[in-house]
Amino acid sequence: DELPDEIQKNIRRRDQSLGPGYRLFYDTPLEVLRGEGVKLFDRDGNEYLDVYNNVPSVGHCHPKVIAAVHEQMQTLNTNTRYVQESILDYSEDLLSTFPAELGHVMFTCTGSEANDLAMRVAKYATGNQGIIVTSGAYHGLTAEVASFSPSLGIGVPLGANVRVIDAPDALRYSSDQRSLEDHLRNQVRAAIADLHRHGIGLAAFIADSIFSSDGVFAGPAGFLRPIIEEVHAAGGLYIADEVQPGFGRTGQEWWGFQRHGIVPDIVTIGKPMGNGIPVAAAIFKPELLVEFGRNIRYFNTFGGNSVAVAAAQAVLDVIREESLIDNALKVGEQIITGLEDLAQDLDQVAEVRGSGFFIGVDLVTDRSSLTPDGDAAAGIVNALREDRILISACGAQGNVLKLRPPMPFSSNDADRLLDGIGRAFKRLR
Ligand code: PMP
Repeated sequence: DELPDEIQKNIRRRDQSLGPGYRLFYDTPLEVLRGEGVKLFDRDGNEYLDVYNNVPSVGHCHPKVIAAVHEQMQTLNTNTRYVQESILDYSEDLLSTFPAELGHVMFTCTGSEANDLAMRVAKYATGNQGIIVTSGAYHGLTAEVASFSPSLGIGVPLGANVRVIDAPDALRYSSDQRSLEDHLRNQVRAAIADLHRHGIGLAAFIADSIFSSDGVFAGPAGFLRPIIEEVHAAGGLYIADEVQPGFGRTGQEWWGFQRHGIVPDIVTIGKPMGNGIPVAAAIFKPELLVEFGRNIRYFNTFGGNSVAVAAAQAVLDVIREESLIDNALKVGEQIITGLEDLAQDLDQVAEVRGSGFFIGVDLVTDRSSLTPDGDAAAGIVNALREDRILISACGAQGNVLKLRPPMPFSSNDADRLLDGIGRAFKRLR
């Protein structure tokens, strides 16, 4: 009830027109009117530090993206059934950021569609139906993709062709890299054996390369390798879902899987690709598309339209021109180190982990039991919101603070964030 009348009225209107399928962030919902860089502004002009949005990845309302979209909108906006040089330029530019084995890109509008297409191709190319995912995975909203998104909970049943392995939680499943890798290898072997027992061959293992909804698991880098070996030995494909970590967010490289020293058979990308303009894609090893392309009619009306591609090209350009991947690495390290200092004497912080601008803080009741504490995380998220710093939480129990700012996030922004988290952590003492 501290909310101004105007916002309360809009929340009521929202309930009436959008209905019960919609959720709002925060105990005190936030009405936003404007965004700029890493800032959001409310009705009264108050400024909020955005440490959560990876979609406006090169910053809210980036002038270069606006100009590209504006210009293309005045020139032409049509579909991929015409020859258009801009889509060829973009495709070549995008593919140049991937290992050479990945040679074709197909455009969609959303990450869900990209994963839907990736899985269709995987099933078609292998002749198999089986799918393996991690226990807290989210891959999208279509009926097919939801059937391999266990984070949606028991209301959305997994497919009979889907098997689940543990999240790569090094804190809870191992004390060193070797044992985490052994654990994951055994899990994948068991999943494949169980599929076979039910007469189902393996089509694909699909994983978010930063395991965002699982709770942000970045390391130790390389833990995916044994899983992929087992998947390939069973005749399955590896699909890297880069919708969350992609476009340089994890620092150092363009794509999250590169940290693990592996090459996927298929990669899916989305969210940050157009800085908010709906555009997504699946990238393939060309041999996977030969039969599929010949026999299956796949046309996506809006996928890769001229305006979407203009936005996507501007995003690639800005990432390079503003050295945003280096920035993610450098300022990301500053945040991780700062969080580790703040957490040193806090028994409720089990671990600070992440890579670049994808950072998780694992909150527990105490370090000896490692019992996830989702209430503590919700408390911190809401306390920070009152302090005008926007973050969220993830993980199966909602106990992992999720920090994922737009990539122009500066060292000064990091200082402000760490000050705020320092204040919020006082509630844990
Ligand atoms: N994959 C991952 C890892 C995601 O986090 C999401 C969205 N949160 C998707 C796929 C689906 O993307 P979209 O919402 O654009 O359909």
